[in-house]
Amino acid sequence: MPRSPQPPPFAASPSPNVSDEALREAARHLLSGGLIGMPTETVYGLAADATNGLAVAAIYAAKGRPSFNPLICHVDGPEMAAACARIDARALELMDRFWPGPLSLVLPRSDTCPVSELATAGLSSIAVRSPAHPVALELIRQVGRPLAAPSANRSEELSPTTARHVIEGLGERAPMVLDGGTCLAGIESTIVSLIGPDPVMLRPGAVTRHEIEQIIGPLSTPHSSSGVISPGMMRRHYAPRARLRLNATTVGAGEAFLAFGPSPASIIATLNLSESSRLDEAAANLFSMLRELDSKFEAIAIAPIPNEGLGEGINDRIKRASAHLFEDGV
Ligand code: AMP
Ligand code: MG
Repeated sequence: MPRSPQPPPFAASPSPNVSDEALREAARHLLSGGLIGMPTETVYGLAADATNGLAVAAIYAAKGRPSFNPLICHVDGPEMAAACARIDARALELMDRFWPGPLSLVLPRSDTCPVSELATAGLSSIAVRSPAHPVALELIRQVGRPLAAPSANRSEELSPTTARHVIEGLGERAPMVLDGGTCLAGIESTIVSLIGPDPVMLRPGAVTRHEIEQIIGPLSTPHSSSGVISPGMMRRHYAPRARLRLNATTVGAGEAFLAFGPSPASIIATLNLSESSRLDEAAANLFSMLRELDSKFEAIAIAPIPNEGLGEGINDRIKRASAHLFEDGV
């Protein structure tokens, strides 16, 4: 006889306010590149189709985030996670025990991962989790793709735990919010990296260290203050091998030119972040274009990008990428 499904450990209360029609509309909205305020068991997320770079750029714009942090990709279970990430035995055991639930796993991106590079901030890793909220799970199932979702608040403001908070905080930036009731407040997902041989706890959260260690053994903690990368810990910033030159209006011998908008007449762009000078398009293209140029050139000259709106995040990432050799390691 099949085992009756166990209620997930962090199941939220039922969601009488979300009709089937509202869910279908939200799924359509996501598939056409829109944003949805989505209840999860931790906090409300601002969700976008993680495979659509422009939709992911819209998340950063709506939050007013001055930098592109990698986003957690929400999946409906291990199978969808396996389409994005390389899953080892430890990951499988943790998923089996804690999913759906507030445990995010950082895993190597698979070669065929469909998630936009903007969502993973150009890293070769991806954070995945399966939320224990019936509305979130059903939404992901209907969309059939992973949803990138940070908390649904403006940058620096408090994380929302009700639909009303989201509406008050984001207004028209979140045109549709699914009201899944009040989240179990104050607990973010625990983040564990399985990138190296030793699992690392990147962020404590609702699933405790002890619970995780019972399944996969000791967890190490990142040495954040010393700036030393412990063996196997992933980089938190994308770091190309090529030298980057910013605000370039000329191009030197052997340099690639990464343009934004129309290039000066004397320069032939190797690639263009956005021919029509759209910052959302530039954000969506940033990491994949840098990666492509990095594989072919020793040096990359990057055209000036206006430091407003999403341009702030783009410039922040380019600066970090160009300064990685001098940074404190992570
Ligand atoms: P949140 O603020 O809850 O949306 O969680 C985002 C955090 O998850 C980031 O700031 C990172 O610490 C972590 N994270 C997400 N994606 C990745 C990734 N690809 N590699 C490493 N850490 C990640
Ligand atoms: Mg937040």
